[in-house]
Amino acid sequence: MSEKIFLCSICNINSGTCKEDCKFCSQSVRYKADIDRYKQKPIEDIQKEAVSARDNGALGFCLVTADKGLGDKTLEFVCKVAKAVQEVAPELRLIACNGTATLNQLLTLKAAGIKAYNHNLETSEAFYPKICTTHPWSERYETCQNVNAAGLVLITGGIFGLGESQKDRVSMLESLASLNPTSVPINFYHHNEALELKPNSLSVDEALALIKLTRKMLPNAERIMVAGGRELIFGERQDEIFAVGVNSIVIGNYLTTSGRAMNKDIEMLRALGLDVAKSVAG
Ligand code: SF4
Repeated sequence: MSEKIFLCSICNINSGTCKEDCKFCSQSVRYKADIDRYKQKPIEDIQKEAVSARDNGALGFCLVTADKGLGDKTLEFVCKVAKAVQEVAPELRLIACNGTATLNQLLTLKAAGIKAYNHNLETSEAFYPKICTTHPWSERYETCQNVNAAGLVLITGGIFGLGESQKDRVSMLESLASLNPTSVPINFYHHNEALELKPNSLSVDEALALIKLTRKMLPNAERIMVAGGRELIFGERQDEIFAVGVNSIVIGNYLTTSGRAMNKDIEMLRALGLDVAKSVAG
């Protein structure tokens, strides 16, 4: 595991148009959450975000689309965006997060310059039908296997605080470990009033213990990342996540919620004496 902190920025290049029913997701059209919804973010805006992320120390730049999986049009758009970002910020390591994907689709992304693919298992196989009825957990697992087969870097993790049991959490971490991911993004459910799930009741200490457990159960992962819900769950105690095994964070805004200013995170890392990763092997 690297000592340096890997910073990643996420860019919602298509937002809020998904027809699936994942109960934690404000991007589903079913729940009518009050969020920005658009089919394709203008390429110039994405380029500006990429340059800003790089200038603030991000190494990873993740192109996210809100849909169950990659259709032809989405695949074409992601490839176009990947090329446009490489023109203005070639130093960024491009990640795609576009839902379920076949091996051929992943190979097309790879040829367009995508280095890593993020697809989360979200929760345990047993609990998944309680939070999503429109597609099975097995499709998620298969996509992760496709990512490995395509020779892309696999980024896969999940969400804590959906109402799952501790047994479900352990089961999800076992499934993640079986995929041998390079990076494991851990999200903490961020409640939106349009969603029927109850707000996340995890305490800071419980959340820290879950990060510790993730680190313990995935000893070969290069990076344990805290992604969505960091500010919500940890508040003033965000700096404690690094002592329990986190070596990667998302800076800037999340998909449908605001993160704190990027420079605040840089200041926090500096105060902790932690260096920002400038390059990455895996
Ligand atoms: S498939 Fe993805 S974008 Fe669609 S509702 Fe589920 S989590 Fe949200």
